Amino acid sequence: MSLGIYISVPFCSTKCSFCNFASSVFSRALFDRYVEQVCAEIAAASRTARELGGRLEKRVDSIYLGGGTPSVLAPDQLERLFHAVREQVEVESVAEITVECAPGTIAPDVLEALLRCGVNRVSLGVQSFADKECSSVGRLHTRAITLDDVARLRTAGIGNISIDLIAGLPHQTSESWEFSLSETLATGVPHVSVYMLEVDEDSRLGTELLAGGSRYHAHFVPDDDLTADLYLVACERLEKGGVKQYEISNFARAVTHGIGLRDSRHNRKYWTRQPYLGFGLDAHSMLPADTELRSRGIEAVRFATPASLEAYSAAGNELDPPAARSDQLLASRTLVDARAALEESFFLGLRLNAGISLAALAQQFGCEAVEECHPVIAEAIANGLMEAASERVRLTGKGRLLSNEVFGSFLRGANSSAVGGFSI
Ligand code: SF4
Repeated sequence: MSLGIYISVPFCSTKCSFCNFASSVFSRALFDRYVEQVCAEIAAASRTARELGGRLEKRVDSIYLGGGTPSVLAPDQLERLFHAVREQVEVESVAEITVECAPGTIAPDVLEALLRCGVNRVSLGVQSFADKECSSVGRLHTRAITLDDVARLRTAGIGNISIDLIAGLPHQTSESWEFSLSETLATGVPHVSVYMLEVDEDSRLGTELLAGGSRYHAHFVPDDDLTADLYLVACERLEKGGVKQYEISNFARAVTHGIGLRDSRHNRKYWTRQPYLGFGLDAHSMLPADTELRSRGIEAVRFATPASLEAYSAAGNELDPPAARSDQLLASRTLVDARAALEESFFLGLRLNAGISLAALAQQFGCEAVEECHPVIAEAIANGLMEAASERVRLTGKGRLLSNEVFGSFLRGANSSAVGGFSI
């Protein structure tokens, strides 16, 4: 099974008030040192996998450069990262190669570098087409800049574009949300992600909302009911516009020729438990267990780099950086046994609208193990959160809104915090 590669670039031009990612504004002087450390980490990938008890597939069919805003890197820094990857693994000619960009950050020389690196998909962090909403959370772009970037990417030959939107931004109303959705549809992009504003202490806006304050336009944030409505409206409007929901937060158009959707191949790896390897700050990995661990009943290993730049950089500054990095990763390692792998299959697979096949799970984990989950499934069905059809189970619309509740019911032994590398 081909591998997915994730590279984290935690640098941004400004820090958005709602952002709870491990990203921040740093001086450009730091970028070069960081790129060097990530390249060293990539060069040590085989050794790392061996030391952590994972089996490393050398064929790669997806690369995802996320963050952060990777497009703030200089062209030569981007090229060094991709070169480091191609030195270690065989990138398939049909690989999906995605870079996350903030509108307004794709300078002409950066775009040229992306093309030279083989990038064929761009994920644009638009969040809203209403300029007031963007500026209220510290975004630097406007609707006009976003539309210009979409046109420039297409002219350059990158038509596989994804637009991210957030429901629940300050000043958002039903009308302004309708506007953002219709503008998104009008661009004709093949992929859209819709997230609901996350309120937690990891962002300035979240902290202010929890404290009941008014900084960061917190008092203009729609209430939970309206935000949930906005999400449901998005599902409906995008579907009507030919952009079909295939995962809780993700929507795609059908491919022009052939069957299937222009979905994110990379993210699908997370939801279907295919192997992926992450590099850079706060990057998560999941590899199949090696023969020795398998003989002890372990299915897979998960590990992650630190979420703080200080801790990440400290390992890279050691006399023997690969050894220090391995120690760091080893400390984060989770061994996934069959029971935990089954739980993961439920709470990751149920994110997909297609749901999961109970027959396939029974084949992989045994009928008895799957039958043990039947009471949880039956309860979710009785509560209108899940539905069953021809050996498959999936979330209902209500279940998608309350997905964390459903996922929690499947978690008995798995460490959910160890499953990451993507937004929920
Ligand atoms: S939302 Fe994106 S652009 Fe804004 S601070 Fe977070 S990672 Fe950076």
